[in-house]
Amino acid sequence: MSLQVRNDIRNLAIIAHVDHGKTTLVDALLWQSGIFRDNQQVADRVMDSIDLEREKGITIMSKNTAILYRDTRINIVDTPGHADFGGEVERVLKMVDGVLLLVDSSEGPMPQTRFVLRKALEAGLPAIVVINKIDRTDARAGEVLDEVYDLMIELEAPEELLEFPVFYANAKAGTCRHEADGEDLPLMPLLDAIIENVPAPTFDPDQSLQLQVTTLDYDEYVGRLAIGRVHNGRIQVGQEISRVNQDESWPAKVTGILGYDGLRRVAVEEAGPGDIVAVSGLEEVNIGDTFCERDQHYPLPPIKVDEPTITMSFGINTSPFSGLEGKHVTSRKLKERLDKECLGNVSIRVEDTESPEVFQVSGRGELQLAILIEMMRREGYEMTVGKPDVVTREIDGTKHEPMEILVVDCPDEFIGVITQKLAPRKGRMINMTNYASGRVRIEFRVPSRGLIGFRTEFLTDTRGTGIMHQLFDGWEPWHGDIPHRSTGSLVADRSGKATSYAIENLQPRGIMLVAPTTEVYEGMIVGEHARSNDLDVNITKEKKLTNMRSSTSEELERLIPPRRLSLEQALEFIKADEAVEVTPASFRLRKKALKAVDRKRQK
Ligand code: GDP
Repeated sequence: MSLQVRNDIRNLAIIAHVDHGKTTLVDALLWQSGIFRDNQQVADRVMDSIDLEREKGITIMSKNTAILYRDTRINIVDTPGHADFGGEVERVLKMVDGVLLLVDSSEGPMPQTRFVLRKALEAGLPAIVVINKIDRTDARAGEVLDEVYDLMIELEAPEELLEFPVFYANAKAGTCRHEADGEDLPLMPLLDAIIENVPAPTFDPDQSLQLQVTTLDYDEYVGRLAIGRVHNGRIQVGQEISRVNQDESWPAKVTGILGYDGLRRVAVEEAGPGDIVAVSGLEEVNIGDTFCERDQHYPLPPIKVDEPTITMSFGINTSPFSGLEGKHVTSRKLKERLDKECLGNVSIRVEDTESPEVFQVSGRGELQLAILIEMMRREGYEMTVGKPDVVTREIDGTKHEPMEILVVDCPDEFIGVITQKLAPRKGRMINMTNYASGRVRIEFRVPSRGLIGFRTEFLTDTRGTGIMHQLFDGWEPWHGDIPHRSTGSLVADRSGKATSYAIENLQPRGIMLVAPTTEVYEGMIVGEHARSNDLDVNITKEKKLTNMRSSTSEELERLIPPRRLSLEQALEFIKADEAVEVTPASFRLRKKALKAVDRKRQK
């Protein structure tokens, strides 16, 4: 069997830690290769197209871009920027022949860099290293390059992959250099290096069609899209194909094929080996499926993805406010939406529970699930979500739990408090690096369970100056009890509007979570009790009109502003018998059992 080469294509994935400049670099490459015509309106940071991604500043879904340069089509596949989305990274790497590793010249390699690079090295993919943001005043490009080498060696990169080209870039200005102190050039040398160093796709001319689906998407005009790389053979619009996995086969018909031109998808008639395309016409399709010619069965190896580590319940909204703020409130709608998510997102799993109105949703981390909830509420869903919990596994007859590598980066004055906070959470320090700048980087190994709720505390403890990242790192025998929030909740004992009078009187008992005039209901959590038990309170109490001494404005002055919890914070805050009510307009914390009598009975 002799392989042939598609010299007019290069497929490469871009690997970077969040904020190291991936989007900026891809934008600059697109501009400089002339993709954008002058009159075309383009938003800044074009690769991040989903609203939510823009807001949270992270890339969630992988997207593809194609650049035409020197008669070669360079397909650039984006990798998701957060470690919780590890499953996507592996699939994306199945489509490419090389990677562009982008590292911030001050921060150096971060956990995500390491995680994705390890996967790329395991897949034998060569890298081009770009050290970005060399214009930063705290740039330390030389050291960072050494750190990249060290990381490669630590990850046991084979010798041939250690000889990678290096560029120093200012992606914001659209320039690069060959040496850290060299001359600023446009990005053409980097494009040239991609063409020279990323192997062109090879294929077996005797093998019929094999296209493996690595991503699913949905388009309102053409329906479900199966995205993947043609490994061998050709695929055409109108073609009758078989969709196969290791054991089974289903007939299907291709109704459309979309290729990439810059950031747009454009209709094409056919695609051949090495092309990355989106195929329409298949309503049923799973990640990892292979498209073959009709009645042929040549499945490519199945795609392995990381197991979910965090799980939580998603139920319909059962609060008295159900249906007031959202448009999708039934369990059928909720189930449909969750099933749809599973189709496109292999690291999410949905299971039924004893209740037809509650589903158990598992994913690769708290943040991934929080993002799913955020997307759903923006789409008009209402739901009740429970406390996040870890997935456990039985290994050799003992209960195991998922572990994480936690990397924190903060001013050195906070070492003490962080170490102290992580001890009861069963965190173990494994490494500490001091920087001349007065910052430290500390690595811990912690059960995933111990990190639920840690993010908020960490940000408060470091007064917002700390950065933390976590990464799944295997399974270990159960580490024993980990204490959770030791305070109780202040729970509304009736429905009505919260008054400033009542809040002023309740303030000494804890921290309020709602402001005056907020509508509350019985069983809704309105504050954090300073003591360990829950306390039912009347937050709707009106001042008696008789001895009026202070004016409303004086009264408002005495009120401490309520603590506003973000979704992530709310999920961290709740206990096992509590839940978060999510609607397009609000998050409310509540007891699972709303009526005080029911709660008493449970005790
Ligand atoms: P991504 O998360 O990797 O996609 O990162 P972005 O491309 O969104 O960049 C993160 C931030 O870094 C943005 O504010 C960019 O403007 C900034 N940035 C990107 N490249 C450079 C650079 O070369 N120099 C400087 N100073 N800032 C940069």
